[in-house]
Amino acid sequence: MADFYTEYVSKFRDAIEKHTFFCIVGHTSPDGDAVGACVALREYLESRGKKAVIVLPNAFPAFLSFLDPHGAIMIYDSCKEKASETLGAADAIVCLDFNSLSRVDEMGRIIAASTAFRMMVDHHVSPVAGDFDLLISDTHVSSTCELLYRLLTGMPDVASDASRLPMAASEALFTGMTTDTNNFSNSTYPSTFSMASALLAAGVDRTAILYRLYNQFSESRLRLIGELLKNRMTIVDGKFSYMVLTKELQRKYSYSKGDVEGVVNRPLEIGDVVLSALFTQDDDFVRVSMRSKEGTEISGFAKKYFNGGGHPNAAGGKLFMKIEEVPDYFVKTVREFGREAWVL
Ligand code: 5GP
Ligand code: MN
Repeated sequence: MADFYTEYVSKFRDAIEKHTFFCIVGHTSPDGDAVGACVALREYLESRGKKAVIVLPNAFPAFLSFLDPHGAIMIYDSCKEKASETLGAADAIVCLDFNSLSRVDEMGRIIAASTAFRMMVDHHVSPVAGDFDLLISDTHVSSTCELLYRLLTGMPDVASDASRLPMAASEALFTGMTTDTNNFSNSTYPSTFSMASALLAAGVDRTAILYRLYNQFSESRLRLIGELLKNRMTIVDGKFSYMVLTKELQRKYSYSKGDVEGVVNRPLEIGDVVLSALFTQDDDFVRVSMRSKEGTEISGFAKKYFNGGGHPNAAGGKLFMKIEEVPDYFVKTVREFGREAWVL
């Protein structure tokens, strides 16, 4: 493990010891890593006798609901007043799986104005230092859950023994690592397998987690994925794939959040395709999700043209244009960026 972890663990430990009421925050459109990290930290803090409440900007997909069996997670969008009160009452705010307050929309302003101690634990590149009092950042881990696992196992009461973590924390950490790596298919480091091994030895039931994550969907969701791949996938110049999930399709297939999770990876199965984009029509904007093969760096592309950012091979953002205009925009930008940043 890199040397800087000694310092990270010591700062993390100090922050936990000094504070009593923690508000734990994940990013907008929370994914398995965000929800998993939030739940794991809450479980650990509660086991230490601290008060901890999770507040997420908006709802998480239904396939993650097993991480919140008692509905204890507060969703800012559906209870703004109560969520603001909670943020205001905390003496520490822990931001997990995002690196800039712009990633939590309206909640970002409340956090920025708060006098609480603001800490970030995250694995995305280029954190915005001014947004936080303490930055714990490592981009060479699979997930925020893996980073948090290292911090938690570094605490004196856990003392590198994963079996001392609360079981609900271990399960949540395993879940977030699994979803961010697409079940061990990308961003997996030797340390990722070490973490998985230790958590399994500590009693985490991986079979049950995989069942909840991947075998509990509706028929219409699978048919939507079929429609997207069969009829809605376009490949530009043989290398750049895009799919458009319009409102019309969403209605037809009773789409709900998280239904097409992972689908953006599928076009990369084609030998020559190096970049895949999925555009999902939302109420006021178009959500952009992109993946690329090793050797095709897309976080700069997402930042330059899609009001976003991300990792070298997984990035996203937002477009503020009509859904019908998106294909032409994608073709234009992918060619323009291609001339500068990758070989066509
Ligand atoms: P996903 O495709 O899973 O929604 O997002 C992949 C990655 O892209 C995320 O882990 C995140 O790093 C980045 N990302 C997605 N949406 C946005 C956005 O709106 N802004 C920024 N800065 N990054 C985003
Ligand atoms: Mn993550």
